[in-house]
Amino acid sequence: DIGNAGDSLGVEVFVVGGFVRDLMLERPIEDVDVVVEGDGITFARYFASMHHCRLHQHLKFNTAVIIFEDGFKVDVASARLEYYATPAALPVVENSSIKMDLARRDFTINTLAISLNTETFGTLIDYFGGGRDIKDKIIRIIHNLSFIEDPTRIFRAIKFSNRFGFRIGKVTANLIANALSVGAVKHLSGLRVLSELKQIFGEDNPLPALETMADYGLDKVIHHELKLTDATCALFESVGKTLAWHDLLYSDDVYPRWAVYFMAWLHGYTVKVSTQIADRLMFPLKERELLLEQRIKAEQSIRLIEKSYPVSNQQMYWWLIYFKTESLLFMLALTKNESVRKGISHFYTHQRKIQPLIGGKEIKSVGIKPGPVYSRILNKIIDEKLDGKLNTMEQEIEFAR
Ligand code: ATP
Repeated sequence: DIGNAGDSLGVEVFVVGGFVRDLMLERPIEDVDVVVEGDGITFARYFASMHHCRLHQHLKFNTAVIIFEDGFKVDVASARLEYYATPAALPVVENSSIKMDLARRDFTINTLAISLNTETFGTLIDYFGGGRDIKDKIIRIIHNLSFIEDPTRIFRAIKFSNRFGFRIGKVTANLIANALSVGAVKHLSGLRVLSELKQIFGEDNPLPALETMADYGLDKVIHHELKLTDATCALFESVGKTLAWHDLLYSDDVYPRWAVYFMAWLHGYTVKVSTQIADRLMFPLKERELLLEQRIKAEQSIRLIEKSYPVSNQQMYWWLIYFKTESLLFMLALTKNESVRKGISHFYTHQRKIQPLIGGKEIKSVGIKPGPVYSRILNKIIDEKLDGKLNTMEQEIEFAR
């Protein structure tokens, strides 16, 4: 249908980038990126009106997102000749705007396109050897200044290499080392580094990526005290197992996966170093709190729990209720004590959601004056419920009285 719309408007339309790469790798496909040789916004408007889709337009960037009824999205970008300074002497095909568009991308594996217009439907466009590199399982940049031009590509190279199990090409690896030696990442804004790290730590198994980062000395650029130890590697493996367990049993319970690995990465570093890292990475306030306060409290609490175990339901509850899902998962990964692990997962599964059925209104109805006593009553109700008592509202009201 996209190709037909292109035919009707007389423009060439291609599906590009990650979609084609993932198609060749037979991996699940998430987003579809389309490039129109012409005005992408006009194309997207036309397509959306024909197929009753919603549309988000970014006029400044000449891009749009077509949103289908079921939520499926297609990103549309414009590749227009006037964007590029092209030597007039080159033959037309060399001048084509799709080639220019693809040439701006990061790695050869991301430069593939497939034509969608009826006459050429399904034709693979491969100007930079991306097809061969996918077969050879190799990450290669397109031009030598790539990492200097945009140092976030260093992190992207590591992310893709880890995700697909590809190696980073020799020249590309040398160019990464070279970019690092001239301080390219040092000057990168914290927010951009953070965004890349979140993506790397959000992958299925980020440990090989962390090792590659350490090989290049990227961690040291973020903070000179960061050092990849065997303990960190073991903790990453433990996080992997914990998250696999969690996601299998509680697939509806969403949490930021990257955050658990991030806590594991910073485990053991002092508040001072952690704060400096959070500053360098320009952590937003909420995430900062998670990484500093929650992580450090989690480390302290797990030690306390390990020392005091076995403890009552109530003690465990009041120790753990403060923590977010990601911190609890971090604690589960952190402890080597099997009983403690069981205790925390019992809390997670059975106790975390326990709430009184009654509220202030009901407490007032039994004649108790509002005040701090209300929260004491509600907490006591939770204590009772943790032992399986007070199952109905009536029982709770009676207890409050
Ligand atoms: P993912 O599965 O991680 O989303 P993707 O390849 O779709 O992989 P995006 O980050 O969504 O990655 O980027 C879409 C496309 O834009 C990429 O295929 C790549 O060609 C291009 N791109 C993204 N970031 C850069 C960059 N920093 N430099 C050059 N090209 C980039």
